[in-house]
Amino acid sequence: MKDKKRMFSVFLEKTRLLDLLELVPASTLIIVNYHRVYHDQLVTEFDSGVFCLSKEEFDQQMAFLSKHTNLMTEEDVVRLAQSGKPPSKRSALVTFDDGYRDNYLFAVPVLRKYSVPAIFFIPIESIEKSRLGWWDIIAYFIKRTEKEILPFKGNKLFLRTETEKENAIWILQDHMKSVRSEESQDLLTELSFLCGVDFPSKEIQQEELMNWDQIMEIGNSELLSIGSHTISHRVLSTISDEDELQELTDSKLFLQQKLGCEIKSVAYPVGSYRTFSDRTKGNVCRAGYSIGFSFNTGVNYGSILDPFNIKRIGPVADLATFKSTLIVPRLFVSHPY
Ligand SMILES: [Zn+2]
Repeated sequence: MKDKKRMFSVFLEKTRLLDLLELVPASTLIIVNYHRVYHDQLVTEFDSGVFCLSKEEFDQQMAFLSKHTNLMTEEDVVRLAQSGKPPSKRSALVTFDDGYRDNYLFAVPVLRKYSVPAIFFIPIESIEKSRLGWWDIIAYFIKRTEKEILPFKGNKLFLRTETEKENAIWILQDHMKSVRSEESQDLLTELSFLCGVDFPSKEIQQEELMNWDQIMEIGNSELLSIGSHTISHRVLSTISDEDELQELTDSKLFLQQKLGCEIKSVAYPVGSYRTFSDRTKGNVCRAGYSIGFSFNTGVNYGSILDPFNIKRIGPVADLATFKSTLIVPRLFVSHPY
């Protein structure tokens, strides 16, 4: 499917059909969410899946975005959501989740170069405790283990080749999304034991994440904003009503105190439909946020925005597909519903 989309996007670009389609008026708000950007080559001991593109590829995408879309800031999206009106043009916003250091090192200079606004969603505990997310720790264990077979839920995960390891990482990560938060740490400890690999040191984890000085610099700039990604990055649908409200309230207050500015937006951890609910939306409103972002939920078309389910799509590395996604999203973004 990906290859077909890519071929179709190359066709649209080569035949200049994309230029013609761009002339068709659009009332869309497309929010592209990135996690990590690598420098030249993708080399990591952690989750390769959260990297999507290189600094060069990101530069090309931002150049296109700045020329061909109406760029929105966080404040613009807040106003749009409160206005009850659809966006008047083909609009776009860039967001980053999880507070990785490469965002500051490689993405921020590119965003500044093209004056592209962006929101960076920060999970507080990751930064405060220099602790990477479970997806990175799972990948770290599996990549480093010398075991060839791993018992898992009555089955066996094979780890003999790179492909088998990537597959095992994916299965374990998918399982973790539905595990109750209290069990997730136990599961990681068990995995550490089964793999015969210790948890990465605090220093190693710290190198992958932004520090508060870098986050404050982003928060104090004109085009860029900081949003909450909760305290613990627990999947909100797996925790109690009370804990959910606390995650949302405490993270907002913490960031406001740390950065000295109002925190208006939150992005739900993981963010797909099964990870948040109507209860979440109510708590987001109660905690005082103006807007809440989901992920992998599609494109915001002309209809009125739901302020607490502003949809975002994942990134693509390929430039032709990126361009086509922005110009004709109906052909390139699959709808989760
Ligand atoms: Zn996240």
